[in-house]
Amino acid sequence: MSIKSIIMDKPTVVISACLNGFFNRYNGGTVSDDNVNALKPRFELITVCPEVEIGLGIPRKTVSLFKLGDRIEVIQRETGLNVTQKLLDYSEKTINNLPEVDGFILKAKSPSCGVKSAKVFGNREGTNILGKDDGLFPATVRRLRPHLPLIDEGRLNNRELRWEFLARVYLHFLFRKSSRDIKSLIDFHSRAKYLLMSICQKDLQDLGRILAAHRKGNFEQTLEDYRQTFYRILSRPIRKSNLLNALNHMFGYASPKLTPGERKHFLKLLQQYRSGQTDFVTIIEFLRAYGYRFNLPYLLDQYLLTLE
Ligand code: SF4
Repeated sequence: MSIKSIIMDKPTVVISACLNGFFNRYNGGTVSDDNVNALKPRFELITVCPEVEIGLGIPRKTVSLFKLGDRIEVIQRETGLNVTQKLLDYSEKTINNLPEVDGFILKAKSPSCGVKSAKVFGNREGTNILGKDDGLFPATVRRLRPHLPLIDEGRLNNRELRWEFLARVYLHFLFRKSSRDIKSLIDFHSRAKYLLMSICQKDLQDLGRILAAHRKGNFEQTLEDYRQTFYRILSRPIRKSNLLNALNHMFGYASPKLTPGERKHFLKLLQQYRSGQTDFVTIIEFLRAYGYRFNLPYLLDQYLLTLE
């Protein structure tokens, strides 16, 4: 693991070394992905390469995931070498020793790095594919840091998944930056309101209650209570019904200023999103445009419209 200078003006993201210019794939190659390359300048990057760092070398025989009994094992099929424990130990130690990070961009399909994209075989011959799952490193991230977002370069091609990943990275980063005092935390909460509502309205209400119960001189306790609930929200997926609810609430700020035709059109877009005919990124663009047109700073300040 190499840690570049960690500064606080950009989110910090862990990236698979082979996506970051290192020639460390099993065949000595690297990967240049346009979506990943476009994002790199926005982050402080920490590179990891589980297979090289457990000593498999470059080049090396490939390893694969096998479901043997109840356990997922990582085995080099050609040699029979089982590296499961070494990879688990490496992953736990690396994740536990990371500085504060805001997300992970990992290499698709790899048995070490792939995010729900690594093939799992049901027999040693590799003829029986059971499905796809996390490689051992992202599986360990999910276990130890369930609130942190993970994506691989394959999923970055999808506009909604890319948007959600970036929103979660920046939300986590901005929370870290807002943990100085109660005023910063309340400002963060106000701007994050509709993004958090799009994940879980009940947890959002709990966060509001924690801030309302704050007593002067007890910021550390308030922050800890807020953090626990905030992390719980971040471990949940965004659900379409919750996101529609949040978008509808935001539309309420612009709706009285629109013509009946414009209102009808926006509601039709929401319906199209509900039935899978359009994505929510398009709807967010409409809300942003309404914010500028009618000068609605509260709407424009919402992280749901600004984080991407
Ligand atoms: S996919 Fe992961 S383990 Fe494989 S070369 Fe890239 S960083 Fe290393």
